[in-house]
Amino acid sequence: NKTVYTFGGAADHSDPRQKDKTVTGGKGANLAEMAQIGLPVPPGFTITTEECVSYLAGGSDFSDALRNDVAAALRHIEETVGKRFGDASDPLLVSVRSGARVSMPGMMDTVLNLGLNDETVVGLAAISGDERFAWDSYRRFIQMYSDVVLGLDHGLFEEALEIAKEDKGFYSDTEMESEDWQALVGEYKGIVEAERGEPFPQDVHLQLWGAIAAVFDSWDSDRAKVYRRLNDIPGDWGTAVNVQAMVFGNMGDTSATGVAFTRDPATGDKAYYGEYLINAQGEDVVAGIRTPQYLTRAAREAAGARPLSMEEAMPEAYAELAQVFDLLEKHYRDMQDIEFTVERGKLWMLQTRSGKRTAKAALKMAVEMVGEGLIDETTAILRVDPMALDQLLHPTLDPAAPRDVLTTGLPASPGAASGKIVLDSDTAEQLSGRGEKVILVRVETSPEDIHGMHAATGILTARGGMTSHAAVVARGMGRPCVSGASAVSIDLPTRTLRIAGRELKEGDTLTLDGANGQVMAGEVRTIEPELAGDFGILMEWADRHRRMKVRTNAETPADCRMARQFGAEGIGLCRTEHMFFDADRISAVRQMILAEDEKGRRVALAKLLPEQRADFRQIFEVMAGLPCTIRLLDPPLHEFLPHGDAEFADLAEATGYGVDHLKRRANELHEFNPMLGHRGCRLGITYPEIYEMQARAIFEAACAVAQGGADTPVPEIMIPLVATKRELELLKALVDRVAKQVFEECGCPVDYLVGTMIELPRAALMAGEIAEEGAFFSFGTNDLTQTTLGVSRDDSARFLAPYVEKGIFARDPFVSLDIDGVGQLVRMAAERGRATRPDIKLGICGEHGGDPASIAFCEEVGLDYVSASPYRVPIARLAAAQAAL
Ligand code: PEP
Ligand code: MG
Repeated sequence: NKTVYTFGGAADHSDPRQKDKTVTGGKGANLAEMAQIGLPVPPGFTITTEECVSYLAGGSDFSDALRNDVAAALRHIEETVGKRFGDASDPLLVSVRSGARVSMPGMMDTVLNLGLNDETVVGLAAISGDERFAWDSYRRFIQMYSDVVLGLDHGLFEEALEIAKEDKGFYSDTEMESEDWQALVGEYKGIVEAERGEPFPQDVHLQLWGAIAAVFDSWDSDRAKVYRRLNDIPGDWGTAVNVQAMVFGNMGDTSATGVAFTRDPATGDKAYYGEYLINAQGEDVVAGIRTPQYLTRAAREAAGARPLSMEEAMPEAYAELAQVFDLLEKHYRDMQDIEFTVERGKLWMLQTRSGKRTAKAALKMAVEMVGEGLIDETTAILRVDPMALDQLLHPTLDPAAPRDVLTTGLPASPGAASGKIVLDSDTAEQLSGRGEKVILVRVETSPEDIHGMHAATGILTARGGMTSHAAVVARGMGRPCVSGASAVSIDLPTRTLRIAGRELKEGDTLTLDGANGQVMAGEVRTIEPELAGDFGILMEWADRHRRMKVRTNAETPADCRMARQFGAEGIGLCRTEHMFFDADRISAVRQMILAEDEKGRRVALAKLLPEQRADFRQIFEVMAGLPCTIRLLDPPLHEFLPHGDAEFADLAEATGYGVDHLKRRANELHEFNPMLGHRGCRLGITYPEIYEMQARAIFEAACAVAQGGADTPVPEIMIPLVATKRELELLKALVDRVAKQVFEECGCPVDYLVGTMIELPRAALMAGEIAEEGAFFSFGTNDLTQTTLGVSRDDSARFLAPYVEKGIFARDPFVSLDIDGVGQLVRMAAERGRATRPDIKLGICGEHGGDPASIAFCEEVGLDYVSASPYRVPIARLAAAQAAL
């Protein structure tokens, strides 16, 4: 297998490995593909990801094969452009960029102008006829190389540049003359030598290998690791390296550089979208140093901006670019994110990839591309990330609510966010860890801010365009973001900021509207999302393609109604204990728990019966004949006990018991390990009157609804935490007995099922036997994960993050099912249950029922349904369809 692939010029692009992202990375594969379809791509070569992996494993050594192959590939570039690397009279310059399988902020990004040294800079000046350009390029190269390859603080160089400008009385870089840049190069070289004890490398081959090593090493940088952890990217992929002939967007006013999308990545509108800068290098656009200009005339006019758009300033290059956009969309059948450069009027393509997009844009594009005949329905279903739907399902700012608008920046990533102002990423992470909502406010963000951006509910930056780091990362993470709000100035020493003359401090509340760029003081009211339109269409397609049903975990009529709006086809888990906490009945619940004997308990249960009956009745009415799985009381009783003297005093008054007596009873109920204690069906076994009351409430409610003429409900009564067949047998008999009594009393029998949760390894092992009693199983994978791993679901946060970082778990097993371990128990229980009772109903109601990877596993095992919290229902519908395709 080749270690290096060349592209552009006369290169042979026929080896399929070259277009395989796992081998050449996203950037390398797409460069080869663009070159192959005849687009203007500067020649270059890609070192494979495999070389990165073996370099990192082999103690940072380059193989001889790699050295030879790189030398040959360099000759390919030299021959194609007719320049030689290191040639003092007409030097070839190259860019060196990383490029993993998926784009990954956090890794070394780019070194431009590599191949410049004290001699070649003179040749470049002569051959380009532009001294200023040559010296500017050299100083940029030293600065970039020193930062990303040599690891020197870039602040040192920025400071030297600021001082140089101050000395001259200049405001902007564009005022710097050739001699000024030349002098600065001297300064920069001095900095490098002082910091490293050796001069800036003059040997162009040493420069190249240094940059290649830096790209490889950056795969294992802390920032890259954090990004991988947050995005579930395996650590063993490695990155490719792309070395490509430089083209220059900074060769005067007929040159430019830009970033563009073939459709609007924020809204999904079918309109070219992008930014460009005349006489600039690519980094200038992304870094937000100069404010980029619009690509199209329409966008410029819509924004009321003055500087000419590319369409107006460079009509020929723009026309060619527009053709390339169309060609690329047809070729890739997806929206493309493109980097280009115009060098003295000639267009060059530097990169294309499927563009990151907001959930709203993803939906709109998927639906519209089906309409355009570009993709089919199944591709559309597969193209939308189910988790991204989350962004659409959450509230947006109420347009009618008053807004105290401080300033307006760029609408970089949509959604509404309110939170406390924080000025650095570590603080953002700390506060959000304590459950606070925070807005991260920065001058601009860098990959070092990824953890803070993740922790924040919204991001505000003073600088940077729509393609700045903050904008791109925020969109990918689904965080609302306003960028380039230039009226924001931050004073870190006093932890304050001024926005258009108003003074705010860290900790004050701010609201962002990512849809229009507004920054508002205080919190603004929100409204519920719109579920029709593209969302409705895609959901309809998904429903047509999925096999599994999607139910919801809900126990209030409001949640049930919301879940039905989101498309829930039943209730998979109604946790009846949540009804016990309501203010109007907690005191009866406490009375029941603290009673000395059955008689005392029955008195309290009699008070609870009508309350529960009313709850179930409302739920059955909302669910209108859909199946409803209702779980009988599960948690340890002491969870309901009073806390603090005031609550004890209230309870004493309500029950007539003395406070001391109540406290003694509460003490008696204390358990050392409540999760493994007196809970679940053990409550039903020891205090059958509790389950009797609940069963009665369910059946009476069902009969009342049926007799009222509404759709007859089908209650599925679920017994929690069963470990043995006998437990289920006893409790099923109890439920059947109550059913018989109620049906006789009201003269209106309804269909019902009795089944169990599978939450304990023993239950999974004995599933064949348990299925003799249970008509259905619902996998309670929260407890099943806890009991299989022996990891407390309530205490794991403290140690699970390092576990994931060290690769012990690929993901938090309480978020995404441990398929290898816990999954085996699920699979086995499903098989054994079906062997006993072929028509047994199988579902999942742990949190995993809303996680796409776990849903794919449920499809594989052949479960009948998944159940998720209301907001996750659409995610589950889409994920179930993807799993079935
Ligand atoms: C479970 O254990 O997975 C479950 C759904 O029950 P709970 O979360 O209420 O314990
Ligand atoms: Mg449970």
